[in-house]
Amino acid sequence: MNQRAHSSSSSETATPFDDLGVAVSRHEPLSHHTWLGLGGTAAYFCEPIDSDALGRVVKRCHEQQIPLRMIGGGSNVLVPVAGFEGMVVRLSAPGFCGIDVQRPAIIAGAGAKLVHVVSAAVQAGLSGLETLVDVPGTVGGALVGNAGGHGGDIGERVADVTVMLADGTTEVRDRSRLAFESRWSNLDDCIIIGCRLELDEEDASLLTKRMQKQWIVGRSAQPSGTRTVAMMFKDPLGTTAESLVAQAGARELRAGDAAVYAAHANYVVAGPHCSSDDVRTLVETVRSRVREKLGIELAPQIEVW
Ligand SMILES: Cc1cc2nc3c(=O)[nH]c(=O)nc-3n(C[C@H](O)[C@H](O)[C@H](O)COP(=O)(O)OP(=O)(O)OC[C@H]3O[C@@H](n4cnc5c(N)ncnc54)[C@H](O)[C@@H]3O)c2cc1C
Repeated sequence: MNQRAHSSSSSETATPFDDLGVAVSRHEPLSHHTWLGLGGTAAYFCEPIDSDALGRVVKRCHEQQIPLRMIGGGSNVLVPVAGFEGMVVRLSAPGFCGIDVQRPAIIAGAGAKLVHVVSAAVQAGLSGLETLVDVPGTVGGALVGNAGGHGGDIGERVADVTVMLADGTTEVRDRSRLAFESRWSNLDDCIIIGCRLELDEEDASLLTKRMQKQWIVGRSAQPSGTRTVAMMFKDPLGTTAESLVAQAGARELRAGDAAVYAAHANYVVAGPHCSSDDVRTLVETVRSRVREKLGIELAPQIEVW
C-alpha cells in the first residue's frame, strides 16, 4: 500500500529532465513570471544556472519533441488560462544577466533587465540606448521584438548576438546575419544568450539628463510603470495604433474585467478579476472593430501563447 502510494507520487513528480542536474518544476504558475501577473501554468519550468545546463535542457526538449519557450520579463506575452504544455525557460541566473562595459561597446546577457543596461551605458558615458529606458523587460525579449519607439530601437546598436540552437550548440551571429524591422527581428528561431551593443562615447552628465528627460516623456506618453496595463498593437507605418483604436470608436470596449486603458487607447488595463483570456478576447475584439470600421488590420504587439 505504502509502496504503491510512493510510486504513484514519484511518477507524478518525475520529469523527462530528471537526469540533467537541472532543477525543473512542474505546473509552474506563469502568472509569477508575466508582467500582468496573469496566465495558467507551464508543464515544466526551469532557470538554468549556466549555458551548459541550458544546453542540456534544450537538447532534451528537441530530442523528446517537448515544445520550449523562453520568457524574459513577461511584458509582451499572454499565457492562456489553460497554460502551456511544454517547457518554459527563464534566464535569470547571474551568468545570463551580466553587463560588461568594453568601450565603446556593452556586452549584455539576455536575462539582464533592459533598464539596467541602459543605466550602465549612460553611467559609462556611452550613448545610443537611452531612448529605451522606459521599455520593460529583458535584453532577450528586446532583441526578439526589436524593442524601441519613435526615438530608435535596440536593433540599431546590435553588433552581434550569441544564440543557442535547438541541438544545444551555440553560435555568434554577426550583424550581416541579423535583420531588424519595426518591432520584429529574425531572432525568432533560437535562444538568445547575450549580445554586443556598439555605442558612442558621450559626456555622461549630458547623457544622464537626456535619459531622465526620456524617462519623463516616456512616462507621460505611456503607462510603463503600472503592472496592470500591457500594449495591444504594433504601430502601423505612418500612424499609431492608439489613434486607429480611437478612430474606430473602440475606446469603450471591455471583455470580462479587461478594458481599453482610458489614458492610452493602445493599452489594455486588467482589473482585479481579469484573466488572461479576458485580455486576449479584448485584443481580438478591438482588432475586429478597427478592421470593420477602418479596413485596417492591426498586428498584435502582445504575443499570445
Ligand atoms: C507598459 C508597457 C510598455 C511597453 N512599452 C514598449 C515600448 O515602448 N517599446 C517596445 O518595443 N515595447 C514595449 N512594450 C512591450 C515589451 O516591453 C517589449 O516587447 C519587451 O522588449 C519585451 O521584453 P520581455 O523580456 O518582457 O520579453 P517577454 O515578454 O518575456 O518575451 C517576449 C518574446 O521574446 C521571447 N524571448 C524572451 N527572452 C528570450 C531569449 N533569451 N531568447 C529567445 N527568445 C526570448 C519570448 O519567448 C517571447 O516570444 C511595453 C510593454 C508594456 C507592458
